[in-house]
Amino acid sequence: MLLPAQIIQKKRDGTALTEEEIRFFINGFTRGELPDYQMSALAMAICFQGMNFDETMWLTRAMIQSGEIVEWRKGGGAPGRHALPFYADKHSTGGIGDKTSSIIAPLVAACGVKVPMISGRGLGPTGGTLDKLESISGFNVNLPLDEFQRITEKVGACMIGQTAEIAPADKKLYALRDVTATVSCLPLIVGSIMCKKLAENVDALVLDVKWGSGAFMRTRESSAELARAMVEVGKRYGKKVCALQTDMNEPLGQKIGNALEVRECIELMNGSAQADDLMEVTLALAAEMVLMSGVAKNVADAKQMLQKKLASGEALRKFADMIRAQGGDAKVCEDVTRLPAAKHTRPIGAPKSGFVQSIECDQIGYAVIALGGGRKVSTDRIDFGVGFEQPKKIGDRVKAGEALMVMHYNDATRADEAERMVQQAYRIGDKPAARLPLIVQKIE
Ligand code: URA
Repeated sequence: MLLPAQIIQKKRDGTALTEEEIRFFINGFTRGELPDYQMSALAMAICFQGMNFDETMWLTRAMIQSGEIVEWRKGGGAPGRHALPFYADKHSTGGIGDKTSSIIAPLVAACGVKVPMISGRGLGPTGGTLDKLESISGFNVNLPLDEFQRITEKVGACMIGQTAEIAPADKKLYALRDVTATVSCLPLIVGSIMCKKLAENVDALVLDVKWGSGAFMRTRESSAELARAMVEVGKRYGKKVCALQTDMNEPLGQKIGNALEVRECIELMNGSAQADDLMEVTLALAAEMVLMSGVAKNVADAKQMLQKKLASGEALRKFADMIRAQGGDAKVCEDVTRLPAAKHTRPIGAPKSGFVQSIECDQIGYAVIALGGGRKVSTDRIDFGVGFEQPKKIGDRVKAGEALMVMHYNDATRADEAERMVQQAYRIGDKPAARLPLIVQKIE
C-alpha cells in the first residue's frame, strides 16, 4: 500500500489510481485518519489531472460505501392504491437563484411519488438547499436515517443533508471543496452528487446539469459531459436516470439569497408571484420525475398534473406538512413575513444605458456571500435575510441609474462591496442581446 503522499503524487503526475488507493483515501479521510490537507491536495490533483470513468465509478462507490444505503418499501412501479411506493429525486449541479428543489419535492410528492431528498449546502458561489431551508425557523435538516424514512413515507417528501449514516464521506469532502477551490471538477462533482443519490436508493433520478457563468461547468460541452457521466454512473447502478441540461448564465427566478428564495418558492406555490424561467425549469424537472414514476403517460400529461397540484394549493400544503414534520415553522407558508428579512434594501443602479449582454453570474453568488448570505470559511454563520431581488436578465433594456437588482442587506460596508460586484458582473452594450434557451437538451 502506498503512503498518502505517494497517492497524491501519483495523481498529481497524471497516473490513474486503483480502486484500493481511492478507497484507502476516502475511508481514511471519512474516519479522520487522513488530515484535511492531504485530502485537499488530492482533490486539487484530481481537479488538474481528472479521472477516467473507472476511477470516477470507484470514487462514487467508495463514497457510497462510507455510509449506509437506505432500504425502502420498494415498489418501482406506478404509485397507486395497491402498488408499492415509487421513490424519485432530482439533483442540481448548482446555480444562482436555483431554488427548484423546494418546489419540486412537495409538488412531486403531491402527485403520489415519494421524494426523499438529500441536498447540499452552499458550494463556491452557488446557494445550497439546506442553507435555504434552515432560514425557516426550527427546520431540521440533520435528521437521523430512520426519521428521514418515516417522514418520507408519511408526508411524501423529506429534505435533509448528508448524515453520519448516508454518504458521510461527501459531507466532509463537500465542506472541504467549498473552501479549497476544488468544486468545479467533473469526477468530484459526479462522486459527490451520485454517492448521495445512490445511497438514498431511489428508483429514479432526474439531474439538472447547469452550464454557464453561474455554473461549475462553464461551457455547454463540459456540462453535457458531466451529465453523460452522471447518467452513466446511475444506469450502471440500475436506476432510471435522465438529465436536463439547463442555462445558468443569469440568476434563476426573481430572488437570490436564502430566505428570499424560500419566500419566492412559497409565493410561486400560492400564486402571488410569477417567475417564468424558474417555473419552466421546475416543471420540466418535476415532469420527468412524474413520468419516470409511471403516474403520467407523457410530459404534457405530467405538466398538466403538476399545474393542477399547484393551482389547488396541494403542493404548498405538502410543503407546509414537510416543514412541520421537520420541526420548522410551517406558518411561513401562510405568512412569508415570518421568514428572516434584512433591515435595509436599496437598488443597485446600472452604470450606463443599454441592453444586458451578459452577466458574470457567479459574481452575483459571491456578492451574496459578501453580504453574509454564504460562507467564506466552513465555520461561518449565515445571515439568512440578505440577498437580491428583481434581477435584470440578459436582453433586458436598462437606463443609466435604473436598478439592476434590489439589494437586501444588514451591513453597509458589506453592501458597498456587494454593490460593486453586481455592477461589475453586468455587461451592458448598445445592441439588443438574444436570450439563451433555458433548457438545452435532455440526456438519457
Ligand atoms: N452538488 C453536489 O452535491 N456536489 C457537487 O459537487 C456539486 C453540486
